[in-house]
Amino acid sequence: MARRKYVVGNWKMNGLAAAMGEAEAIFAAAKGHAAVDVAICPPFTLIGAMAAAQPGAAVGGQDCHSAASGAYTGSVAAPMLADAGATLVIVGHSERREGCGESDADVQAKAEAALGAGLSVILCVGEPREVRESGGAIDYVLAQVAGSVPADFGADRLAIAYEPIWAIGTGLVPTVADVEAMHGAIRDALAARFNDKAQAMRILYGGSVNGENAAELLGAADVDGALVGGASLTAGKFVPIVAAAAALG
Ligand code: PEP
Repeated sequence: MARRKYVVGNWKMNGLAAAMGEAEAIFAAAKGHAAVDVAICPPFTLIGAMAAAQPGAAVGGQDCHSAASGAYTGSVAAPMLADAGATLVIVGHSERREGCGESDADVQAKAEAALGAGLSVILCVGEPREVRESGGAIDYVLAQVAGSVPADFGADRLAIAYEPIWAIGTGLVPTVADVEAMHGAIRDALAARFNDKAQAMRILYGGSVNGENAAELLGAADVDGALVGGASLTAGKFVPIVAAAAALG
């Protein structure tokens, strides 16, 4: 099944109002690559302004709370993201799983809340270095998939992002063979649980993707796009990744 490539920028805790020009340049360039779905997930503070300035563009959050409202100081609920103009949200990023102690059950609850608020979801999984080195990466990631992917969703509303933790922000990337083995294993696990829907779901790769390695990584079997951190902060670095995805169709 042909799946549209999906390239998503995760700005993390980067971006003041002055960075809006980069988003404008990215979305303007993306219009020239209509075969690729492009999204930017800026910090919460920029979502409303970015969505308002870019009608029709996909702007997302980097996290949401699993509750719709309540006494959760500092948190942002999925309906608030939607209200601000977001159409998607990242959940389960390793910087939240590790840094904020989020469990698979937490991530699943966040994904369910996001879907319920009408957002689409990018659900992150990925193994630490020691697990990769011990040979347990596939089992580790499949356990995350089993524990954090919700039971019910539209195939076009939930994408998995495989992000080996040791590859995030380090300049290290797995071999294409390792990426293909992991993405194939994730798709097989999804097929065992969701039958035909698994073929329509997108599985993104994330971890030190840049303009030089994007074509090789995005061209690997079962890789349907990229979740990009550092190289998504400027149009100069991000647009070549979008172009590489477009060249692959
Ligand atoms: C990320 O944190 O989602 C990520 C992939 O970061 P980077 O591209 O900087 O490795």
